[in-house]
Amino acid sequence: MYIPTIGLEIHMIAKTRTKMFCACPNSFDENNPNANTCPVCLAHPGALPVANEEAVKGIVKLGLALNGQIAKRSHFDRKSYFYPDLPKGYQISQFDSPFVQGGNLKGVRITRVHLEEDAGRSLHELPGGVKTKDSATYIDYNRGGSPLFELVTEPDIKTSDQAVVFAKELQLILRYLGLSDADMEKGHMRVEANISISKKDGELGTKVEVKNINSFRAVHDAIEFELKRQEEVLESGGKIIQETRGWNDVKHITESQRSKESAHDYRYFPEPDLPEIDLSDWDLDAMRKELPELPEEKRVRLVASFGLTSEQAESLVEDKQLAQFFEESASELADKTKPANFQLLLNYITSDLRGLLNTRGLALSDTKINPEHFAHLVALVSDETLSSRLAKDLLVNMSETGEDPESLMNASGIRVIGGEDELGTIADEIIGKNPKAVEDFKKGKENALQFLVGQGMAKTKGQASPDKLREVFSKKLK
Ligand SMILES: [Zn+2]
Repeated sequence: MYIPTIGLEIHMIAKTRTKMFCACPNSFDENNPNANTCPVCLAHPGALPVANEEAVKGIVKLGLALNGQIAKRSHFDRKSYFYPDLPKGYQISQFDSPFVQGGNLKGVRITRVHLEEDAGRSLHELPGGVKTKDSATYIDYNRGGSPLFELVTEPDIKTSDQAVVFAKELQLILRYLGLSDADMEKGHMRVEANISISKKDGELGTKVEVKNINSFRAVHDAIEFELKRQEEVLESGGKIIQETRGWNDVKHITESQRSKESAHDYRYFPEPDLPEIDLSDWDLDAMRKELPELPEEKRVRLVASFGLTSEQAESLVEDKQLAQFFEESASELADKTKPANFQLLLNYITSDLRGLLNTRGLALSDTKINPEHFAHLVALVSDETLSSRLAKDLLVNMSETGEDPESLMNASGIRVIGGEDELGTIADEIIGKNPKAVEDFKKGKENALQFLVGQGMAKTKGQASPDKLREVFSKKLK
């Protein structure tokens, strides 16, 4: 049995208006390569960087959300390495004074979070899938100089699942704070895992760094693969080499990229073109108070306030827009019905509403449905004024017209056939016409009742509640 030790390094592109050290728009605009560039981010001689205040505020917020220590004073450092997509020949990063030290998330201790600039992109294919000439590589500096948060964890992680939980929670926090879209597939969030295994707890094996992890599935699979690979190496009497490996998502394996011997010497030194940043008079308590509700707080509150299960709360927490819609509708529903049926509301949101959005490829904001009308629809279903089948149709109508469900019902002549007398008359008629089904029911065949209810639904054109019909038929046939 081997004990895994896993630490993560996560880069996140901050969604600021401008780049980290110049006034260029912080936008990738893949169709216009090198449009968002200037002498600073192209490293023209004499161009001077200016730190982006929005990015500094962002990392402080992130640090507060992660319960980290915010540095009183912090500075940037030069990290020297040559790469064509890094025109200065060095990256402005932070070495010994990160903005955030310590912190924790999902039971994993955070070592630090620092701020740096992103590199450009090497293109082996031009926009529109055009192959470059003579297998040349082109460089797009639109991303060069974008602000990056880099978070490093302590090696507290023991399983691939735990690593995924950590990365997903971090993604949610970034989105809740509005700091990054943190979309892994789009490269907004990039995960690297440091993985080792050993026989004894507390004893560290040789560390392997795995890069090129571009999805949560890949976080899981790359770690699983690497743990197994290392175990096989050790079991067959081999030695783990300290190296960097890349996850190959197609072959589903990690591949050696470079060994420790050829690793970079970054020759860090303080960036002479930028002043030290003094945060000692920032009101961190006020900033902490101004943070929006974070995912973990929201989970607890949704369970406590609306009686949701933790799975139900999770489905809302993962979709901030839908969660807000649920809460606004819930407060409307609570005004309309006592006791309010929040479970029914949630069902309508997670099945009917989400289904409608998915089939039409729409975002909630693309439709004309508002929380008040939605709550009204659920209230009509809840007090059986409206059948669930008609509610589905009305929802489509509401999304297109922005009308209230009741006015739509009146306008289209939908009424609900719910009175016992009215349903009784219909039931009598159906019973008269279907002696065979009645006979079957009396012999104990449950299907027969279902058949009669179906006839009732057809007769009322779906304007009755199937439950009520079932009740009426059962009574009549007893
Ligand atoms: Zn620029």
